[in-house]
Amino acid sequence: MAEIKRGITVLNRFERIHVDDENVCRHCMAQLRRVYKGLELSPEELELLERPRRTFIVSFPVRMDDGSTRMFTGYRVQYNDARGPTKGGIRFHPRLTLEDVRNLAYLMALKCAVVDIPFGGAKGGIIVNPKELSQGELERLTRGYIRAIHGFIGPRKDIPAPDVYTDERIMAWVLDEYEKTLGKSAPGVVTGKPLALGGSKGRSYATALGGSYILDEALQVMGGLEDSRVAVQGFGNVGANIARILKENGYRVIAVSDSKGGILDEGGLDIGEVMGCKREKGSVAAFPGAEKITNEELLSLGCDILVPAALSDQITEENASMVKARVVLELANSPVTVAADDVLFGNGVKVIPDILANAGGVVVSYLEWVQNLSGETWRRERVIGRLKRIMGSAFREVYGICREEECSMRLAAHLLGVRRILEAERLRGNLR
Ligand code: GLU
Repeated sequence: MAEIKRGITVLNRFERIHVDDENVCRHCMAQLRRVYKGLELSPEELELLERPRRTFIVSFPVRMDDGSTRMFTGYRVQYNDARGPTKGGIRFHPRLTLEDVRNLAYLMALKCAVVDIPFGGAKGGIIVNPKELSQGELERLTRGYIRAIHGFIGPRKDIPAPDVYTDERIMAWVLDEYEKTLGKSAPGVVTGKPLALGGSKGRSYATALGGSYILDEALQVMGGLEDSRVAVQGFGNVGANIARILKENGYRVIAVSDSKGGILDEGGLDIGEVMGCKREKGSVAAFPGAEKITNEELLSLGCDILVPAALSDQITEENASMVKARVVLELANSPVTVAADDVLFGNGVKVIPDILANAGGVVVSYLEWVQNLSGETWRRERVIGRLKRIMGSAFREVYGICREEECSMRLAAHLLGVRRILEAERLRGNLR
C-alpha cells in the first residue's frame, strides 16, 4: 500500500482545501472488487472508478450564541462528473468521516446513472451534532460551510441537496449564502429548497414516494404479498413518509423506530398519530399503546417488508441471519454491509438496493433543477407523473439485468450504473 501523503493549500483566512494525495475511496475499492468480480473491468476502468475526481476538506469558524468561536470541519467530494454536473446531499452528523462522504458520493454517481438523469455524483457534510445547536448557530454554521465551498459548487458544476439531518430550511440558507457571495440569482445551485424559493412540488416526500413505486413494481414481478406487514427503521423525512404512504396504500405498518427506540403493534400502527407523537414528544418511542422494542429487535421482526430508512451499516454480518423479512427496501444509503449482503442473498431475502430504491429524492431534485433553469413551475401531477415513469423504467432495466445475469438486484443496479458511467468516460475520450 502506498504511503499516504497529504498536502494542504491555504486559500484565505477562512478556508483550507485539503488535497489528499492518496485520493482513493477504499470502501468503494473493496466494494468494487467484490461486487464486480466477473464483470471483467480493465485495470484502467477500475482505477477510474476508485478515484473521486475532487475532494475538499474545509475548516471554518462559527460564532456561537455565548460569544465564543468554534472551528468546524466540512467535506465535499465530487466523485465523478462524466455524465454531468455532480449532485448529492449535505449531511450533518457528529460521526461523519471523509471515508463515509466518499462512499456516499460514489453511490450518488451510480444512483444518477441508474435512473439515467444527467448528473454525476457528489456528497458533502459537516462533523456536527445539529441537535446541540440553536437555530442561529445552525444558520451561521451552514453559511460558513457554503462560504468555504462556494467556488466549487454551482448550477452547472455541483448541486447540493438535503441529506441526513438537513432540510429545506437549511437549503434556503445555502441558496441565500451562495447568491450573496456570487452577487446574482442562481436558484439551480441547490435543490430541496422551500417552494417559495424555487423548490419543487413533491420534493419533500419524493424519496419515500419513489421507494413506494419501486416496491410496487418489485412485488408485481415477485408476486404480491397479501396484507403485507412492514417494519420501518428511522422516522425522519424518509422513514415517516414511507410509513405514511405504505399505510395509505393498504400495507400494515407494524413497527417503526427512531434513534431513541421503536414501537410494535401487530394489528398495525396509526401512522398519523405516531407522527403527532414524534412532533410533540420528540420520539416515536413515547407513543402510548404499543409495545416498546429496540432498533435491533425491529430489524429481526417477523414481517414481510423491512425498510431501513436511517443510517448506514445497520444490517451487518452479525445480525443479517436474523432478518426474517422477505424483502428489504433500502431507503437509507448503504444500510446493509457488503458482507451482510451475501448472507441475505444466501437466505433468499430480496434486497432492493439503495441506488434504485431511494433514487426518488434525486430524481425530483433533477426536476426541480430543470424547473429552475427554465424558469418554470410545474404542477404536482406533472412532477409526480415524471417521477413514476423514471422510477418504473429504472426498475425494469435493473430487473432485466438481474434476470439476464441471474444475479442479485444490487449487482444488477451496480452493473447498470457502472456501464453508463464508463460509456460516458469512453465517449469523452478518457477510456479506450
Ligand atoms: N440525499 C439524497 C440522496 O442521497 C438526495 C440527493 C439529491 O437530491 O441531490 O439521494
